[in-house]
Amino acid sequence: MMVIINGRVIGPRSILEQHCVIIEGGKIKQIAPTSQVLWPEDARVIDAQGGFVAPGFVDLHVHGALGHDTMEGSVEVLAQIAKFHIAGGTTAMTPATVTDSREKITAALDAIGRAVGHNFGGAQILGAHIEGPYLSTQKCGAQPAAFVRAPDPTEYMPWLEREGAVTQMTLAPELPGALELIDALLEREIIPSGGHTVANSEQTRAAIDRGLCQATHLFNAMSAATKVGAFRMPGALETFLADDRVMVELVADGKHVHPELLRLAVRAKGADRICLVTDATAGAGLADGSEFNVGVARGVVRDGVGMKTDGSALVGSVATMIQLVRNMVELAGVTLVDAVRMASMNPARALGLSGHKGGLEPQRDADIVVFSPSFVLEKTVIGGRVEYERPVESQ
Ligand SMILES: [Zn+2]
Repeated sequence: MMVIINGRVIGPRSILEQHCVIIEGGKIKQIAPTSQVLWPEDARVIDAQGGFVAPGFVDLHVHGALGHDTMEGSVEVLAQIAKFHIAGGTTAMTPATVTDSREKITAALDAIGRAVGHNFGGAQILGAHIEGPYLSTQKCGAQPAAFVRAPDPTEYMPWLEREGAVTQMTLAPELPGALELIDALLEREIIPSGGHTVANSEQTRAAIDRGLCQATHLFNAMSAATKVGAFRMPGALETFLADDRVMVELVADGKHVHPELLRLAVRAKGADRICLVTDATAGAGLADGSEFNVGVARGVVRDGVGMKTDGSALVGSVATMIQLVRNMVELAGVTLVDAVRMASMNPARALGLSGHKGGLEPQRDADIVVFSPSFVLEKTVIGGRVEYERPVESQ
């Protein structure tokens, strides 16, 4: 048994002061005022020292860390990425692939599939987010245009038919065959997510009507309102903002999306339809000026974000989840409860895992983060095991 005492426990709608969380068998057993609970002498007691105790963060979009990239197609590399991100409070993730050849994407999915359900002492790997190759060549960002292509069932069916290995796919809804791809994804309970797209409003809405229910890194790499003849017409961005059926990813690293736009997203989508995602690349955890790969693209860490080496575009972030939570509070003005919800319950719900993850309630997995009032990550607990503790020398 483990007990986390003296915490300010972040619930779905409020903060429970001076509460403790009791953990048994990898699950949350009870949440109660610290003064009202007795625990056995042999229980491990963790003193949160007045810090926040929150559900573990679930990152739906992460490419890498520490110079390593999911496209290396290696379980060992995935384990290193998963270990790095526990220091940012991530307890579960869906690693993202990028546009590449069929063979490279297949190899990356093989590795992610093998990593699902394994305990590396890092964030749990829940499945793959296939980002590309079915994207717009005009909005491919750091993804290599030479490999971008239209959906081809003979290519994607073998990817989708890996039982439980794929959880999301990002696609451009305007491509020929995109609606049939959405059907194929939904049949296998894989989330179709719109992104890297130049779709107009009609094309976006048609995809949403067909079942597209998520938007990949809202604001980044998607069409926005533009003047057509005498009239201003919405793009994919405004359609995603306006439609309640769509959950949106938000790279709230303070660089990808301007604080004013973060506030706009909160106003439009509310606290229940935003998932904070890092979109972290191999540059995460590297020093400023370090170069790294994202698939075949080359990036450099510059001013706290990944850039193309020529500075022409962003190449994912170098953020961790706790930084995104902090930014939503400090830059976007949302409450801590809501910011945590966007990092935990919402992504868990998107994945259909809200019965197990995303909240501190009895019977849910004991995936828990403890952080100070100044957003310093103190501890990350996964399945009832303390997998990260802030190093003593920096305390
Ligand atoms: Zn992307």
